[in-house]
Amino acid sequence: MKDTNDYIELDKQLLWHPYTSMTNPSPHFLVDHANGCEVTLATGETLVDGMSSWWSVIHGYNHPKLNQALKNQIDDFAHIMFGGLTHRPAIELAETLVNIAPQGLTRVFLSDSGSVSVEVALKMAIQYWNTQGHPEKQFFATSRSGYHGDTFAAMSVCDPVNGMHGLFSKALTSQHFVGAPPTGFNTPLDPSYLEEIETLFKQHHEVLAGFIIEPVVQNAGGMRFYNPRYLDEIRALCDQYNILLIFDEIATGFGRTGKMFAADHCNISPDLMCVGKALTGGYMTLAATLTNDKVALGISDNDGVFMHGPTFMGNALACSVANASLELIQSNDVISKVNQIEGWLNKHLSRCATLSNVKSIRCLGAIGVVELNTPVNLHEIQPKFVEKGVWIRPFGKLIYLMPPYIITEQEIEKLSTAIFDVASELG
Ligand SMILES: *Cc1c(COP(=O)(O)O)cnc(C)c1O
Repeated sequence: MKDTNDYIELDKQLLWHPYTSMTNPSPHFLVDHANGCEVTLATGETLVDGMSSWWSVIHGYNHPKLNQALKNQIDDFAHIMFGGLTHRPAIELAETLVNIAPQGLTRVFLSDSGSVSVEVALKMAIQYWNTQGHPEKQFFATSRSGYHGDTFAAMSVCDPVNGMHGLFSKALTSQHFVGAPPTGFNTPLDPSYLEEIETLFKQHHEVLAGFIIEPVVQNAGGMRFYNPRYLDEIRALCDQYNILLIFDEIATGFGRTGKMFAADHCNISPDLMCVGKALTGGYMTLAATLTNDKVALGISDNDGVFMHGPTFMGNALACSVANASLELIQSNDVISKVNQIEGWLNKHLSRCATLSNVKSIRCLGAIGVVELNTPVNLHEIQPKFVEKGVWIRPFGKLIYLMPPYIITEQEIEKLSTAIFDVASELG
C-alpha cells in the first residue's frame, strides 16, 4: 500500500502543478478531506482555509446543499450535449444570472473555465463589430496590472510585465495598454488617467473592438483596489468612441467585494461580463459570458451565428451545483456577511502595519491584502503557514486572504496572526 510519502513522491514525478518547475517544484501537501473552512492533510494537520481554493469555495467545503444538488442531478444525467438539446439546470441558471447581473445583461453563454469565458467575450466583441460593418475592429484596449486568464487571447490582455508576454511575445496579439487605474477605493479620481484612456481611444478606436478590465479590484495582477467612479467614466468614453466595455468579474463576482458584482459599486453596466470561479461554489469548473441585447442581437444580424461551442458547454452537474450555490447566496444574506468579514479583516490584519517589511494593508469585502516590500519565496514560506495551521498561498509581494464566506471571526484572527508571525520571521 502507498503511504503519504509515496504519493507525494509520485506527485512530484508525474504531475504539473500551476506555475511550477518539474525539477524543483515548491512543496505540495496531500489533502485527505475538507469540511467547512477546514482542510485536513493526509498527515493529520487541519488547516484553516484563507484562500477558498482560489476564491471559489465561497460556502465552504463539503456543503450539504451543494452535495445534494449534485446527487440529485447525477441520477437524471451528468452531462448531455448542448447542441440541439437543452435542460432545466442550464435554463434556471441563465434565468438567475440575468436576474442578479447588472441591468441590461440579458443573454448567457456557458463555458468551461474563466479563461474560456474571456476568449468568448473577446470573440463576441469582434463578431459584433464585424456584423455591424467594422471588420477592422479586432483589437482590445486594457489596463496594466490586469489578469484575464492563461489562454492565448486572455494572455494578450494580461499585464505585459507580470504576465507571460515576454515568453510568448511573437505568438501573442499586440493589444493596446493604458496604465493601471490609480489605487484606492476611496481615492478621488485622477483626471490624467482618464485623459490617458481617451488619448488611446482617439488614436486607435478604428481598430478597437473592446476595453476589458476587472472592475474595482485587479486581482492576480496585484490585488489592487480602485475607485469605481473610473468605471462610470470609462463607460462614457467607450460609448463616445464605439468601443464595447467588457468586465471580467471572474474573481470579483458573487459577493466578494461586498456587492453581488463589483460592477454594482458603480452606476453603469458593461456590454459583456465574464463570471467563473465562485459560480459553482467552487465545486466544478463552469463559467459564463453575459451580454446585452445590443451585442447578442447584433452578432445575430444577417444570419450571423456566434462561433463557439465547447464540448462540455452547459454541463448539467456544474449548472445544478451553480443553481444551489446561487440559492445559498440569495437566501443567506451573503452580502452582509461579507461586509462583516471586511470589518474582521481590518481589525485583525491591522497589527501587521507595525512590521518593517510590510508596505501596506488593504481590505475590501472578503479580501484582505498585506503587501510586503519584497517578494516571498514560496518554497520557504508555504511550510511555515502549514506549521501554523493555516492555508495561505501568497504570490509575489502579496500575502492575502480570500476566505470562504462562512468563516468566523476567530478563524480570521488565526489567519491574521499566522500572517503576522510569518511576516515577522521573514524579518
Ligand atoms: C482566475 C481568473 C481568470 C481565469 O479563470 P480560469 O478559470 O482560471 O481560467 C480570468 N480572470 C480573472 C479576473 C481571474 O481571477
